Amino acid sequence: MYISPTMKKLNKYSIRVTDIASQYWCELQMELNYLYGQKLTSQISAGKTLHDDLENKISVPLILQPKNYADYLFKDFYKCYTALNSLDKNKKAREITLYGTLNSFKLIGKIDQLELKNNSTLLIEDKTRSNGNVPSEAQTLTHKIQIMVYRKMLGNIISKKFDYKAFKNLYSLDRLQLTQEFVRQLDALNIEKDLQSLDVIAGKFFAMISEIKNLSNILYLRYINQNTGNELKLFKFEYDENYTNSVIDFSVKYWNGERKAIPVQESEKWKCSLCKFFGKECKVWWNDGNSIK
Ligand code: SF4
Repeated sequence: MYISPTMKKLNKYSIRVTDIASQYWCELQMELNYLYGQKLTSQISAGKTLHDDLENKISVPLILQPKNYADYLFKDFYKCYTALNSLDKNKKAREITLYGTLNSFKLIGKIDQLELKNNSTLLIEDKTRSNGNVPSEAQTLTHKIQIMVYRKMLGNIISKKFDYKAFKNLYSLDRLQLTQEFVRQLDALNIEKDLQSLDVIAGKFFAMISEIKNLSNILYLRYINQNTGNELKLFKFEYDENYTNSVIDFSVKYWNGERKAIPVQESEKWKCSLCKFFGKECKVWWNDGNSIK
């Protein structure tokens, strides 16, 4: 697997869909977050709790403690497999991991919700807000990009452009082995012996997800107040394949090392006043001794 100098610099082996979305807020900020560490803020933590609560409403939490990367992948595949297995019954499946490639890089993301409605499969992305305000257009844009890339990845899996074989090669699955300790945990949970193989569970996941029918081109972004759990706003918009491809083309030039991380343009320098790197690691729009240039 190819790792570019940019990925080496950021100590990354795969690109997350949220990285691509963050590039559209401020690419330089995304890079600085990797270089100087993204702290788990109370806001992120509250958002995660709400996501967990939503997931636990439709599935039983899986208490497994992975010991290595193979264990970790198994746990996630098993969770996603059982969620998809119940999609027909529950009409919903939450926190489904999607795999794909960005040129030759690994691309990974997690869609918040698949929902069956009126004979279509809908994609819904939840965003939590610490205040009761509806997000700005600039914030909504990054979230729209995120869900459009999920839509493209899922479409590629369904059309077999990215299938189990491609995944297996990309992740060198043959070289990964579950730990004995983890297998004991699987036995304790009475997980069928036939399923206790990363190869088997990954294959079953890809077989099941590629059978998703009537994937909708209407995408949903749902904003939720993290204090009350109430829905603030539901945006509905149409998937645009050409636009998504242009987003990916823009994004990959950075990961390939064809260009350096771009700071915000002058018209968007208001974002700097919200940025923790402003005036410290980043002085692009810093007016010495004062605030924004
Ligand atoms: S200070 Fe502004 S330009 Fe610099 S990283 Fe932050 S948002 Fe981007």
